[in-house]
Amino acid sequence: RLITIEGLDGAGKTTVATGLVAALEAGGVGVELLREPGGVVLSERIRTLVKDPSLTVDPRAEALLYAAARAQLVAERLEPLLSAGTWVLLDRFVDSSLAYQGAGRGLGVAAVAAINELATGGLQADRTLLLRLDPAIGRARQAVRGEAPDRLEQESAAFFDRIATAYEELAAAAPGRYRVIDATAAPAEVLAAAR
Ligand code: C5P
Ligand code: MG
Repeated sequence: RLITIEGLDGAGKTTVATGLVAALEAGGVGVELLREPGGVVLSERIRTLVKDPSLTVDPRAEALLYAAARAQLVAERLEPLLSAGTWVLLDRFVDSSLAYQGAGRGLGVAAVAAINELATGGLQADRTLLLRLDPAIGRARQAVRGEAPDRLEQESAAFFDRIATAYEELAAAAPGRYRVIDATAAPAEVLAAAR
């Protein structure tokens, strides 16, 4: 099974992922935790490119870089793991690109979906956990964390609002796959809701 975790920066995806892995392993389920962009050598290198604030990256190039990182992760890690029956918990997947590049950058969800159909060979998540968060709260949380500046640092509130709205639309369009979780709840509650 492929379980993906989605949401705005600062929603607590990584914390939930770590907690879920511990819970699944305690229950005897073999699970691999991976992140996007990343998880394999090529994709981690692409990650440093797409996060680098000193680079100019056209939105179309950005969408293709995320898709390239995803294609390599699917081929090198996801397909073998899933074929072997291992559960995979993935911190971001295609829906991040639909939200960030499709809606946020304005490329259009359909265009970005088409690129990703090629990248993934049609692989889809069985379950997607959306950590729902007000964009302003997400930004405040990130500031508190003191994360290294990345290319999204200078984006407007409207940019993050478009992403949040896109996530809501994706969740509404696929209610069977999505589970929406309030990211402002106490960590233990968020984790319980994700299980
Ligand atoms: O969630 P994580 O911190 O790993 O994401 C890395 C950076 O890339 C974040 O700034 C995130 O918002 C951004 N991102 C993006 N488009 C995606 C996926 C992530 O702009 N499709
Ligand atoms: Mg992050």
